[in-house]
Amino acid sequence: MQGFGTTIFAEMTALAVRTGAINLGQGFPDTDGPPAMLEAAIEAIRAGANQYPPGPGVPELREAIAAQRLERYGLSYEPAAEVLVTVGATEGIAASLLALAEPGDEVVVFEPYYDSYAAMIALAGAVRKPVTLRPVEGRFTFDPDELRAAVGPRTRLILVNSPHNPTGTVFTRTELETIAGLCVEHDLIAITDEVYEYLTFDDAQHIPLATLPGMRERTVALSSSGKSFSATGWKIGWVTAPAPYVRAVQTVKQFLTYTASAPYQRAVAYALQNELPWVEGLRKSLETKRDRLISGLDAAGFTTYRPQGTYFVQADIRPLGFTDGAELARALPEKAGVVAVPSQVFYDRTEAGRHFVRFAFCKRDEVIDAAVERLRGLA
Ligand SMILES: *Cc1c(COP(=O)(O)O)cnc(C)c1O
Repeated sequence: MQGFGTTIFAEMTALAVRTGAINLGQGFPDTDGPPAMLEAAIEAIRAGANQYPPGPGVPELREAIAAQRLERYGLSYEPAAEVLVTVGATEGIAASLLALAEPGDEVVVFEPYYDSYAAMIALAGAVRKPVTLRPVEGRFTFDPDELRAAVGPRTRLILVNSPHNPTGTVFTRTELETIAGLCVEHDLIAITDEVYEYLTFDDAQHIPLATLPGMRERTVALSSSGKSFSATGWKIGWVTAPAPYVRAVQTVKQFLTYTASAPYQRAVAYALQNELPWVEGLRKSLETKRDRLISGLDAAGFTTYRPQGTYFVQADIRPLGFTDGAELARALPEKAGVVAVPSQVFYDRTEAGRHFVRFAFCKRDEVIDAAVERLRGLA
């Protein structure tokens, strides 16, 4: 793990705490999830749900997850064999890669990528093959030829994160068809990171890769309650996949953590069954927060790309006369009292991301307004 160091989120959040700057770096909300869900966790603790729950997750949560995939996407999973509860999507990523990638296998990832992908591919002894997302007509996408060229005889897995952190891209059906075509042609397994499945804007629609022809049987889908229910500190995530893959992932998971928090599993089961209208309210409010932050960043002189989903905006710093996002991100708390994350740490081809920083908009309006006000002086 030499070379991995401290995650950029921890570094930038520590910088925000040290300098008192407004933290638009790490993507966590500054308001709570649905009150009845919080109460359900408290009640579960009072009712004695305080010992090891079953390794694969409590049955009521696995049933609620299967019901959600069926109702929302028409995907049918058997709760007892095809659903696994994990310690956040982070453990889902870790256990899936450790279970399914052998040493020397190649894993295709779209960059910029979520930082745990690179770390877990390394721990699995596998090799990452990046495909770069670049702005085309105001939105980040990939070149199908570059994707095709990244797949070779050693390729075993492809990691697909949509809605995508940090670019905000929601893959279209056409883009997903390109990915699915390659998976079927080369017999690849897809790991899909769908933690922002509910957080899409305007007319963008999240389409799980598993819904495409030939994909359900080769897709390991990951999601989480953290982003959907504004409870990133609870760390309840899940895997839905065909039974042999779930068995493989669970075999690893049992030695990482064995199981996940008993009271929070119960509360998330409640939330999946009862609080989806609350999530729709969150989605709408994030859409207006996105617009609020973007108009502020544009006014401050950044070039922004309007995200179709997630919590994040990629901002190009070059119009302000800067060239290196890492330098700017380290100086920004002093210069402007705001913390952002340099996007280049999410790239293998650092050059492609050098001039981007990522701002999070999952914050109260007054926090966004104050940050934007401070950034106005930057030019
Ligand atoms: C936040 C995030 C995760 C981690 O989810 P947890 O449930 O908190 O572990 C995984 N992938 C992406 C893309 C994320 O943004």
